[in-house]
Amino acid sequence: MKKILWETLRRSEFEDAMKADAIVIIPVASVEQHGNHLPINTDTNCCFTVAQRAAQAIEEFPVLVLPPIWTGYSPHHMPYPGTITLKYHTFVELLTQVAASVHAHGFKKIFFLNGHYGNAPVIAAMRTKLAAEEGVSCIGYNYWDLPSVSEEIKKVCPSDKGFLGHSGEVETSLQLYLQPELVNMEAATWVPGVWGDPSAGARQKGERIIDVAVNSLVKILRDYYSGVLEDKLVWRKEIL
Ligand SMILES: [Zn+2]
Repeated sequence: MKKILWETLRRSEFEDAMKADAIVIIPVASVEQHGNHLPINTDTNCCFTVAQRAAQAIEEFPVLVLPPIWTGYSPHHMPYPGTITLKYHTFVELLTQVAASVHAHGFKKIFFLNGHYGNAPVIAAMRTKLAAEEGVSCIGYNYWDLPSVSEEIKKVCPSDKGFLGHSGEVETSLQLYLQPELVNMEAATWVPGVWGDPSAGARQKGERIIDVAVNSLVKILRDYYSGVLEDKLVWRKEIL
């Protein structure tokens, strides 16, 4: 298996990766309550897994994956135990400085992969700030919004009504596939702080969604590397 994890590289290997114009994925997620049946690392585990599998699947150019940023923006989950949240500006500053550090080492292709709903609008705005104020251009996607993934979610997990939900059918299915030992299906019922129907979760559904997400991310990364993706995102050129 080739090395894809940022924290496992040595100094000279970073130089090689930079010269090869590696894409650097920054997974961003959360540690927050996920009902009584899922672990609080659900969002981090889902998005980090998709990032690693896609990076591993690409042979023709290097893709590095940073350690996941697990401190997300989750004030709406603070009424429930286990949740850790940053304040808004702290979160924005954290993302800005991590991306700016990666960029300072010569990496020009930076890709935020988000795994938590509450982070999505913050990352979208932060990316504009990063480009305009720091001169750091980057791409950002939510893993459930990658092309083909939301369609697959609608098909496979209809009770979440085309969304990711929260600890509902989709996330329960994903965790039954990825970390079944941490799921308690006897407690998989709706409680406040859950959106969707956890009891409808199933391992096979989770496997299908992860497979589609990984394949979709591989395609996006190839388009990013070749420049096709940037050509589609003309507005980014206008602000830089
Ligand atoms: Zn979640």
